[in-house]
Amino acid sequence: MPMESVVVIGGGVGGLVCAALLAARGCDVTLVEAADSPGGKLRSVSVDGVAIDGGPTVFTMSGVFEDIFAACGGALADELVVRPATHLARHAWGQARLDLFADPAASEAAIGDFAGAADARGYRAFSAEAKRLFDALDSPFLRQTRPDPLTLGWRMGLRGFADYCTLRPYTSMWRALGGYFGDPRLRQLFGRYATYCGSSPFQCPATLMLIAHVEASGVWLIDGGMHRLALALEALGRRNGVRFRYASPVREIVIEQGRAAGVILASGERIGATSVVCNADPAAIGAGRFGQAAQHAAAPVAPGRRSLSAMVWTAKANTSGFALLRHNVFFSRDYPSEFAALRAGRMAGAPSVYICAQDRDDAGHAPDGEERLQILVNAPPNGDALDGDLAHFTAAEIDKCTLVMLDSVSQAGLSLELAPATVLTTPADFAAMFPSTGGALYGPASHGWAASFRRQGSRTRIPGLYCAGGSTHPGAGLPMAALSGRLAADCLLRDRASMSRSIPAAMRGGISMQPAMTVPAA
Ligand SMILES: Cc1cc2nc3c(=O)[nH]c(=O)nc-3n(C[C@H](O)[C@H](O)[C@H](O)COP(=O)(O)OP(=O)(O)OC[C@H]3O[C@@H](n4cnc5c(N)ncnc54)[C@H](O)[C@@H]3O)c2cc1C
Repeated sequence: MPMESVVVIGGGVGGLVCAALLAARGCDVTLVEAADSPGGKLRSVSVDGVAIDGGPTVFTMSGVFEDIFAACGGALADELVVRPATHLARHAWGQARLDLFADPAASEAAIGDFAGAADARGYRAFSAEAKRLFDALDSPFLRQTRPDPLTLGWRMGLRGFADYCTLRPYTSMWRALGGYFGDPRLRQLFGRYATYCGSSPFQCPATLMLIAHVEASGVWLIDGGMHRLALALEALGRRNGVRFRYASPVREIVIEQGRAAGVILASGERIGATSVVCNADPAAIGAGRFGQAAQHAAAPVAPGRRSLSAMVWTAKANTSGFALLRHNVFFSRDYPSEFAALRAGRMAGAPSVYICAQDRDDAGHAPDGEERLQILVNAPPNGDALDGDLAHFTAAEIDKCTLVMLDSVSQAGLSLELAPATVLTTPADFAAMFPSTGGALYGPASHGWAASFRRQGSRTRIPGLYCAGGSTHPGAGLPMAALSGRLAADCLLRDRASMSRSIPAAMRGGISMQPAMTVPAA
């Protein structure tokens, strides 16, 4: 077989990981990215000349990245200073405060002080359940190609079959949480983990309680900011021979004889390849944005199935009245109506607000004067709706949105003086950066028991065309997008190896054939 030549479309985490792994395994890899720098959602926003993380702020499952660096002949620790955080987050409801810690005993004690002994016991039971769910699904679901329910049961094996029956796919997360916590604020706090994959705790299965275990297992702080991770992955790829081409949007995926054969850039330039990995949202393939020939490779995602979007302020600010930690959540009084508004395509009137105070160290100490903040409020994913409110935000509407956010945090005493250069990224802005998503940041929402099985898999319906990223199996978030990149690389190499075995056999039989790989969509 000639050397495998691969074009990766998109330099988000999934694309960067896939490109580096393929190059480390000897493939000739070109990564083409529409933006002028790597990272995709793992982006940094320049505010008055200062870089502020405008995407992910919570770094979990660092071991996934350690493994990827090692597989590419590197070491995460050589590239980045990554420190474990002792404080997970500070949560506020009006004047009430609750901190969660990396040490589960400290969290349990804090919950006991906050809500009483019964809820502290509830927390212990909840944590055990979240761990059980994670352990049951880590190997057979998160780290393998997308299964259907039967395959998942089979992968879990005889012992695992009992677990499979108790994954709680038919109970909503909100309902399940009511069984652990009497205090509605705790139900709200742990229900918020559904938003880590852009979903509603009222609509997603209780299975997703496993996300709480991921966070409880460790949150890390990256010196210099999260965007450094994207730069480190890019450097890893470069060392292994990946060619990076920025400001190079792809217009079309070339399909020849039923197989992916390269891409055509918006400039008209054609880059030939024996395989293509798409790190852009697969919904863009299904919507025909990469040409008609590729369209049937992935399904479009109906607007009603999208995950949440967000309003994200990146700002320098003076803060007072509330002792911020690195991660802070200011909860609304009424979670059900907040999610009902989002479901109806509206911003909540009094939303919950997340603030990452990026200059704070683990103990919450900040430098004097202005500090860098990322402020996030959930928003509906209708940034591409022609007549949707969010697609046409006027300056007055943006001002109103900012006032509502400031009012929400002021209920806890926090006063924010945002510098004039503040950048607000709306769902319409996200929709422009990530086409065919409407600004949904986590692919399809994980609503209902079947959602995880419907997500795009690594393989598509077109041989030689693969998908990787947070909208693809196993799901959204940095570690999941990275695992998805790894799965795409594995599938591609496995298919290539089985193809190279099939060619001599076919030749012996005297059949002249272009390798006709039938690749099941996975
Ligand atoms: C505000 C925000 C907060 C978040 N918080 C967290 C968090 O705290 N922790 C966490 O783990 N995760 C978080 N996430 C989610 C996480 O960032 C994503 O799941 C992950 O980064 C997605 O990576 P990806 O591989 O899907 O690529 P993406 O980031 O989606 O990048 C895809 C890339 O493809 C490129 N592309 C698209 N179309 C084309 C084309 N035609 N030609 C060339 N290139 C193209 C895009 O420009 C983009 O660079 C957050 C996301 C956002 C936006």
